[in-house]
Amino acid sequence: MASLSLRHIYKIYAGGVRAVSDFNLEIDDKEFIVFVGPSGCGKSTTLRMIAGLEDISAGELYIDDKLVNDVEPKDRDIAMVFQNYALYPHMTVYDNMAFGLRLRHVPAPVIDEKVQEAASILGIQHLLSRRPKALSGGQRQRVALGRAIVREPKVFLLDEPLSNLDAKLRVQMRTEITKIHHRLATTFIYVTHDQTEAMTMGTRIVVMKDGIVQQVDTPTTLYDNPANLFVACFLGSPQMNIFKARLVEENGNVYALIGETNKVLIPKSRAQRIIDRTVIGGEVLLGIRPEDVHYEQSLVEAYPECVIDATVDVIENLGNETILYLNIDGKDDYTISRVNSRYTFTQGEKVKMCLSTDHAHLFDPNTELTLMGVPDYNLVPAQLVAKDGTLVVMFGDTEITLPESVTSRITNQAVFNEKVTLGLSPNKFKTEENRNENDVLIECTTEFFDNYPRFKAVYASVAGMENYMIIARPLDEAFNGGDKIGVYIDANDIQMFDEDGNPIIADMPVTGNETTGTIINNQGTFAYKFTGKDGSHNKFSFENFVVETDATGAKKARPLFDDLVEAPNETTIHIQPSGFVIDKDAIAAAPKRVINGTITHLDEYRKHAIVTVAAQGFDTPITALIKNFSGYNTGDKIKLGVDPHAVIAAKYVTNAEAIAAAQDKGEIRYKEIVAAREHEKELQKAAKKSAKEQAAVKEVSQEPATEKKVPAAKPAAKKAPVKKPVAKKK
Ligand code: ADP
Repeated sequence: MASLSLRHIYKIYAGGVRAVSDFNLEIDDKEFIVFVGPSGCGKSTTLRMIAGLEDISAGELYIDDKLVNDVEPKDRDIAMVFQNYALYPHMTVYDNMAFGLRLRHVPAPVIDEKVQEAASILGIQHLLSRRPKALSGGQRQRVALGRAIVREPKVFLLDEPLSNLDAKLRVQMRTEITKIHHRLATTFIYVTHDQTEAMTMGTRIVVMKDGIVQQVDTPTTLYDNPANLFVACFLGSPQMNIFKARLVEENGNVYALIGETNKVLIPKSRAQRIIDRTVIGGEVLLGIRPEDVHYEQSLVEAYPECVIDATVDVIENLGNETILYLNIDGKDDYTISRVNSRYTFTQGEKVKMCLSTDHAHLFDPNTELTLMGVPDYNLVPAQLVAKDGTLVVMFGDTEITLPESVTSRITNQAVFNEKVTLGLSPNKFKTEENRNENDVLIECTTEFFDNYPRFKAVYASVAGMENYMIIARPLDEAFNGGDKIGVYIDANDIQMFDEDGNPIIADMPVTGNETTGTIINNQGTFAYKFTGKDGSHNKFSFENFVVETDATGAKKARPLFDDLVEAPNETTIHIQPSGFVIDKDAIAAAPKRVINGTITHLDEYRKHAIVTVAAQGFDTPITALIKNFSGYNTGDKIKLGVDPHAVIAAKYVTNAEAIAAAQDKGEIRYKEIVAAREHEKELQKAAKKSAKEQAAVKEVSQEPATEKKVPAAKPAAKKAPVKKPVAKKK
């Protein structure tokens, strides 16, 4: 009996073959886990790493909370059964089973007891005195299992143990192994490329492709809620029909258009599970399983909005069912339907088929990821606003002030005052009971929920938000549609995405890119001079750094500091991590804005590298987020070119409207911006004052308490510590 934990496991074979990438899995005691996927996807490699037969290139493997990366296979308390069950041909079945125990000097009476018990579990008592060559394939496989059982291992690893058996025996052994698992009540990990074995045997299935885990879940969940097109098509036989379709919304209903003539309704129950409403109006892949393509005339009549016209091309009568291969307008390959074998068809016959679109699956044609169910993140259109020295993200009626622990991880400050997509993970929500003081409250109304094996997905509406907010909650928590609930999220758990869908918040802080220096105004062009504590210094010239073409076609330079509120002697600047270049040509093009330094740390982050550099003129190592980084190691000297757009000065005007207003008037003048800010402050003060007065009036007139309720999201959000997002002045 054992639990296993596989954390960020990689296997890279000599020659650079990446057999397994970032494999993560928690296996509970007594689970029957199946690794399934096409040949070469890394199933056996993963199993062999668990057994200790293959080194782990990176990551950690725990058995019962003990790190076993470097533990010898024989000391892992694991038994492995292979496809080629190499039995000793010269030994009897009894001796084959006893062999391993004898090697361990187990006393003979104990061995006898264990062999007899295993033989009785496997039903091979009558074969104990036979030699392997006098056994059938199935019997040999049982002996191989027996050899594993007598050792009473914590974990059974089985690598395609049934693939040498004929089809009938395979089905029989399948149930036997399941029974043995129940009887032994220990952890099984089973490798197969056969989706039927996976579906029938696993308590949970790990679907793999190209060394990467695609989805881990129970057979039913994988079948009903596949995470992507690969999982959808790998499980199920015949496989899921995939239609190229376009979604349209008409009178509040969502329809899928297939080709020119076929249009089917996606019922509300299904349409409301679409996690990204922006796909409505666009192309999708619509998945319908063959058992959901019905011929029954009662269904065709009852659901006219789900009917498509088809022509029968191939008819396969299997006795218990008939498989129809249909041609339909708008689909190049066959549409497959499983129908009752009592119906008769002729080739070329025109039929009307009813699609059970309440079981429809939708996939993104580009990413092939599902558009249904529980997403990694609830994607919420939001606005990121720099406000009074803090960064606030706003959606609907909710405002979240980002603490410094988040702003320090923002990799791209070009999104300030821009539209962003907020990513709120369904798993990160908390309730009143387990929340922390600074967590942000989001008030919602529950609409409906789906039960998954390990959690309940609650679909809730939130004021000002178009999509449902999906919240993962424990299974035993009770919800009713229409319940008003408050959920909390720690601002540190938020992700944000820019307009191109790139994540903006890194896993680690990217601060340190700050230095304090002096702005030198040289008759309207500016330079910035800064010195580190160690005396190293640097100078950036921003002269003519941005050349803009105006309406008359004339070229005009715009220096960096022209929208500064004031130009103090000492100014702290912050260079956003995405604002560095290492490309030689780019550096040569702007030789006056270069930072020299030494790489102190390198980290791969998605497609980029986060490079930490001890740099001249900076007191703390600076962080650079560099795309397509290569050719450097820790300790190397590096030249970082600075993109002037990435430099943010401490007193940078953060009020976009004020800047816009000033810009409208022509050239920006500091005084005007200051005046605009002052005016805004006055307005805010006045608004606060009037709110206070109104509250006082209500108090006097003794309004019912309920009417005084303020939308809770706002005040709670404001509780978050108010800190400067960037470039605090030291
Ligand atoms: P599966 O069990 O899913 O069929 P494997 O785990 O056996 O797949 O193999 C995964 C990948 O690793 C394949 O591309 C395979 O060619 C490669 N591979 C397996 N063993 C070795 C090895 N010893 N050296 C190099 N590559 C290997």
